[in-house]
Amino acid sequence: MASTNQQQRIILITGANKGIGFEVVKKLIEQPSSNSKDILLLGSRDIKRGEDALKQLGSPPNVHLLQLDTSSKESIATATNEIKQKYGGHLDVIINNAGIVPRDNTIQAARETQVTNYYGVKMLNEHLIPLLREHGRVVNVASSIGPMALHCFSKDLQEKYTSETLTKGQLDLLVEEFLSAYESNNVEKIGYRPDLPYLAYGVSKVALIALTRIEARQYSGAQNIFIYSVCPGYCATDLNNKAAGARPAALGADSILYVVDTPNHELENGGFYLDGKKEPQICMDEAKVQFFIQTSKKHLESK
Ligand code: NDP
Repeated sequence: MASTNQQQRIILITGANKGIGFEVVKKLIEQPSSNSKDILLLGSRDIKRGEDALKQLGSPPNVHLLQLDTSSKESIATATNEIKQKYGGHLDVIINNAGIVPRDNTIQAARETQVTNYYGVKMLNEHLIPLLREHGRVVNVASSIGPMALHCFSKDLQEKYTSETLTKGQLDLLVEEFLSAYESNNVEKIGYRPDLPYLAYGVSKVALIALTRIEARQYSGAQNIFIYSVCPGYCATDLNNKAAGARPAALGADSILYVVDTPNHELENGGFYLDGKKEPQICMDEAKVQFFIQTSKKHLESK
């Protein structure tokens, strides 16, 4: 068992073999405040890709590879057992970074996106939040595409996704209704905007931001656990084929680490953050939404 003491934080970062997650691990290793006291669990669904990432980091003794496919219940259960056996069964921070964009417009790709970006995070948190120590926190990596997408949906959907009384069951139902309408080409009928670029991805992040608020209500109080969602900003990674003009993944890592390291009393439990600022659940900036739609359409056309 890796030796831990009271001061050591144990931090899990999912999907950390590349992109923004990898940069988060790199920065946590370099951070003078956390230094080698933190134990970092570098999550990777593929062992080889995880080992390569570890090597690239110089295999520091406080960084351990954890095989974890966040879309698989079996993989989450196995990883939970590994944390119990090797790391004392405790975590202090869970960074749900793993995520995908649909590879095409098929229903299979739309479902896979919900399974990874929404259902996977929900399932992982249900397994791992019970291992969090007092004042532990969860950071769900969402996207500003969520609030911009919600801006374009019907008032009814806006109210449902942002309701203070929304439950996980109701949220699952919203996602399932979206998927059935997507399959039958009927999303407009239930209040979604069919021509919105990255629609299925946007819905997965709308759901993740809503889930974060539900989880914050569920786990606050007795367990003293804090849960946030965060956008890393538009970063050049494999997710967007290293889009021209996007910022470096290291800046995305900074946006995530802000909610990892800022004292909980300075943040709003359940809140959504970007670059250290709290962001609304529905983007109200019409010009920003239009800019997103135009640039995304151009990006998709150029692919
Ligand atoms: P990358 O594609 O570079 O990296 C994604 C990571 O997630 C990879 O390590 C990938 O593993 C992993 N992953 C995907 N599916 C699973 C799974 N089922 N189980 C475990 N790991 C998985 O993307 P980014 O670094 O850009 O994205 C990181 C997060 O940031 C995502 O949640 C994304 O939605 C979000 N985000 C990104 C933005 C950007 O502009 N890049 C903007 C806003 C949000 P593998 O190598 O095996 O595929």
